[in-house]
Amino acid sequence: MKNESTIPPSTAYVHPRNQTDMMGSSMMPVYQTSAFSHSTAAELEQIFKNQKPGYAYSRVGNPTVNAFENQMARLEGGLSATACASGSAAIACCFLTLLKSGDSIVAPAGLYGGTLNWLKELEAFGITTRLIADFSATNVEAAIDGSTRFVFMEIISNPKLEVVDVRALAETAHKANIPLIVDATAVTPALMRPIDFGADIVIHSSSKYINGNGTAISGVIVDSGRFPWKKSGKFDEVLPCKKFGLAAFTAKLRNSTWQNIGACLAPVHAWLNMTGLETLPLRMKQICSSAKALAAFLEASKGVQAVNYPGLASSPWHQQTAQFAEGQAGGILTIRVGSKARAFSLIDHLKLALNLPNIGDTKTLVLHPASTIFIHSDPAAREAAGVFEDTVRISVGLETCDDIIADFKGALEAMA
Ligand SMILES: *Cc1c(COP(=O)(O)O)cnc(C)c1O
Repeated sequence: MKNESTIPPSTAYVHPRNQTDMMGSSMMPVYQTSAFSHSTAAELEQIFKNQKPGYAYSRVGNPTVNAFENQMARLEGGLSATACASGSAAIACCFLTLLKSGDSIVAPAGLYGGTLNWLKELEAFGITTRLIADFSATNVEAAIDGSTRFVFMEIISNPKLEVVDVRALAETAHKANIPLIVDATAVTPALMRPIDFGADIVIHSSSKYINGNGTAISGVIVDSGRFPWKKSGKFDEVLPCKKFGLAAFTAKLRNSTWQNIGACLAPVHAWLNMTGLETLPLRMKQICSSAKALAAFLEASKGVQAVNYPGLASSPWHQQTAQFAEGQAGGILTIRVGSKARAFSLIDHLKLALNLPNIGDTKTLVLHPASTIFIHSDPAAREAAGVFEDTVRISVGLETCDDIIADFKGALEAMA
């Protein structure tokens, strides 16, 4: 499989466009203000009517947040982006923009736990989800029916680490006249731009690799601007298709759902993300390389029963990693160590790796998912998401690779 993605060069990450500041600052300043004053009442009226560019209230628009949104749209190859208070808020705002009672969603069983919880909550509003264990194009095609409004997936899924063929899934969705929505948190535009593979909307929890330092919760929705909302005939009731055409999704998202829920991003968090974005390609390269080395080391270790990392030849999803830049398979792996007690012991014996529920930090992170982020899921749903009693999730950081491996080697020896 050839890598069709046009990964933006490092230069694009450190030189955002249109971000000149009148004081000449090299970084977009933080406009830490709730509202923006205007000299005349007529001017503010024009801004409210979208007849004049400008800012009025930070829930609806803020220059620092806009700078982050524009940079994300550019790096993902999309038409526009909307920044949200969290990745969860981004998913909620995206779904609520497109759905009404009686609609359904097709998604994989191996999704982020918070998203699975959210899909369950939508049932109270008459919205159901068909969760599929093996998310192949054939199975997805069979699950789509007249009520399906979109196909949702993650690439690389967290924590199952399933990697599916994005182009095949996009073709399947488009055949049914519905969009493909991809949560690309685990790959970032440094490894793959899902829009190049046919995805219509890309979502990130930018709390993770995009921020990169674990300093702020945030999310972003990137609209490709390519899905034919009007022509599909499936969204006339929920989107302003006639007036906005290809921009109908973003028009409703920004002017209604996102604005009314108030899931806006704080300016200082946008600024932290802009800072993080500058080093994203460099960090991803180092993180993916260390993750691959750690996975190989753990696969050869006696105390480890199984290693799940898409970059290993033993992974059922190994072939699909050809979709990523240089075949880099991300920074997350999961291992099984035999029992919950052994999983706890491994975590407790690690000296560098931090035990906390996050991914995509500069520091290596570990977590026992079954007793934390999946504590409220039943065992069947948990296992469908790749989480067993003895699973430990590892998010590889920027420590020297030898030091990361030595930490796991020491912990495995100490617990033996
Ligand atoms: C963390 C995460 C989310 C949720 O994002 P928050 O910023 O924590 O709300 C969604 N999807 C994936 C794949 C994640 O890893």
